[in-house]
Amino acid sequence: MKDQNKLEEAKLNGNREVRVRALGVSRGVAIGRLVLLYGSSRQFFKIEIDDSKVDAELRRFRTALTTARRQLDRIADASSHARSAGGIISTQQAMLEDPEFATEVEKFIRTDQINAEWAVKSVTDRYVAQYKALPDEYIRERYADIEDVAERILTSLGGDRRRRVRLGPDSILVGRELRPSTLVELTGESPKALITEHGGWTSHTFILARELALPAVTGFKNLFNRVKTGDTAVVDGYNNEVILHPTAETILQYTRAPGKQVDIPAVRRNNSAKRLTTTDGTEILIRVNMDFPSGYPDAYELGARGIGLYRSEFLFNQFKGFPSETEQETAYREVALLAGIDGVKIRTFDLGVEQWGGQNVSEEKNPALGLRAIRLSLAHAKQFRSQIRALLRASHKRSIDVVIPMVSGISEIYDVKQIIERESAVLESRQISHGEVRLGAMIEVPSAVLMAKEIVQQTDFICLGTNDLIQYLLAVDRDNENVANWYRTLHPSVLRAIKMVSKASTDLGKSLIVCGEMAGSPFYVPLLLGLGVRELSMNINSIAHVRRLVEGIKLKDTTELAAEVNDCQTADEIEDRMKQYFRDKWTSLLPPDFFADRRR
Ligand code: PEP
Ligand code: MG
Repeated sequence: MKDQNKLEEAKLNGNREVRVRALGVSRGVAIGRLVLLYGSSRQFFKIEIDDSKVDAELRRFRTALTTARRQLDRIADASSHARSAGGIISTQQAMLEDPEFATEVEKFIRTDQINAEWAVKSVTDRYVAQYKALPDEYIRERYADIEDVAERILTSLGGDRRRRVRLGPDSILVGRELRPSTLVELTGESPKALITEHGGWTSHTFILARELALPAVTGFKNLFNRVKTGDTAVVDGYNNEVILHPTAETILQYTRAPGKQVDIPAVRRNNSAKRLTTTDGTEILIRVNMDFPSGYPDAYELGARGIGLYRSEFLFNQFKGFPSETEQETAYREVALLAGIDGVKIRTFDLGVEQWGGQNVSEEKNPALGLRAIRLSLAHAKQFRSQIRALLRASHKRSIDVVIPMVSGISEIYDVKQIIERESAVLESRQISHGEVRLGAMIEVPSAVLMAKEIVQQTDFICLGTNDLIQYLLAVDRDNENVANWYRTLHPSVLRAIKMVSKASTDLGKSLIVCGEMAGSPFYVPLLLGLGVRELSMNINSIAHVRRLVEGIKLKDTTELAAEVNDCQTADEIEDRMKQYFRDKWTSLLPPDFFADRRR
C-alpha cells in the first residue's frame, strides 16, 4: 500500500527524473521525501502546526527569547570591561528587547501556523537581507549580529527537551552539512536516509549513519538550489547516486530490488561465546565502537568483546550541552554495566571549542589544529577534573579504561595521570566509592606515531585512530568532500605509521586496538593483521563481515600480503596489489560488489 502511494505520487509529479552523482558514505537504498535542514549550531526544519498547537508554540518562542536575553545579560556582565565586546552585546540585547521583532515572529507563527524556529529564521533572514543592502559599510556589517542573535534563540529553542521534533514518515534529511547532534535528535523520528553537500567517509555524522544503518550520500553540489522540502527522491548509497523526482518505473525498480545484498545472515547471530581465530589459529579480538550503548547486547551476540571506543562527547548530544558530573557518572556506569567483564574504553571529550560551549567562545580558523580534544580538556581543568571524577566513580566494581584523545607526545599523559591521581585522592578523602581505571592514549597524530614507544611505556594500552591519523599524516581534511580522493587509507606513509605503532606495542607487550573506520572494512582488515594488529574495534554493522573474513583467512597469508605491498610507492599500487591478492585467495569470502566499491 505504501509503495502504491509512492507510485501514485510519482505519476502525479510533473517534475522530470534527475540523477545526481554523489559520494556514498553509508550503504543502502531509501525512497522518501526530502526535509531540508537549516541553522548551524542547532539545525531545524519547517513544520506546519495545527490550530491547537499555536499557543504552545508561542510560549515556546517566548521562553527561548527569555533564555537568550538572560544569556546575553550574563555575557554583558562578564565582559563589561571590554568596550568593543560590550558594544556588540548591547546591540544584540537591543534586538532581543525590541518588541517589534518579537511581534513579527509571533505573527508569523500565528498566521502561517509554523514552528517557532521557522518563524525566527524567516524574520531574521529578512532583517539580514535589509542590512546587507545598506550603503554604509559599518552599519551593513551589523547583519552578523542579527545572525548571532538568531542562532542564540534557535539554540534556546532546542533546549526544550520535552518537545520532540516531528518528522513526517519516510523523511530523508537534507543539509549542507549535518551535525551528529541533529542526527541524534532526529533518530527517534526514524528518518530514512541522509543527503549532504559536505562531508567525508569518516565524518562523525556518517560514522553514526553507518551505526544506525541509514543510507547516506554526500558531495551533492549546490544542493539547496536544486531541491526543496517535500520533493521525492531515491538515495542510492550503493551506486553513489540520488534520483530526484523518480518516475514510477524507477520507484518500482527500487522497491522490487532494493539494492545489493550485502548482509551475511548465516553468521549474524550467536557468536557471543565463540573465539574468533584465523584458520591457522591466531585469536583476533573484535570490539565495538558504540555511540548508542543500548545496542551493545546485539553487538555482543554478533561476537563483540566489549566496547572498544565510547566517544564520551556524544553525551553533549544527549544532554543538549555540557553533561553534569552526575549525568556523566550515570552514563559511564550504564555503559560499563552493559559491557560487563569485557569492559569499555571511554574516550574523554574529543571536542573543539565551538562544541564545548560556554561564553565568549571565539571561532577558530583551523579547528582541526586548534584547541581540541585533550588540549581543550587540559585548558578547562575544572570540567576535566569533573569528567575524571565521574569516570573514577563509575568504575567502582566495573571495568572502565580511559582513553586520551589526540595526544601529541607524553606530556599530556603525565598531566592526565596527575589529575587522575589527585581526583582519586579527593574521592578517597570524601569517602566516595570509586574504582581504578586503566589509561590509554589515542595515536592519531603523526608526532604520536614517532613517539609511539614512549607513549606505550607510559600507558596501559594504545588505540590507533586511523580516521584522524590519515587526516593529519596526509594533511587532508576528513570532512571535506573536495579532497576525498586525497584521503588515501592505503598511502604508503599510513601503512608505515601503522607498522611503527604495532611494533612499539608488540615490543613492549602492550595491547594495541585499531578503532578507526579502517578496522571495520573487510578490505583493510587482512592488511592490519599482516601489520601485527590483533584487536579491532568497529561499527556494529561491520562485525559480521569482518568476522566472516577473519574466520576464512590464514594469518600467514596476511603477513605475506603486508610484505608484498611493503615496497609499493603509491596508494594506487598498493590497492591494485591488494585486489589481486584478494582475487587469488579470498574471493569466496567477499560480497559480490566488493571490488567495484571504492568507498573506504
Ligand atoms: C579516529 O580518529 O580514528 C577515531 C577513532 O576517532 P574519531 O573518529 O572520533 O576522531
Ligand atoms: Mg580521532
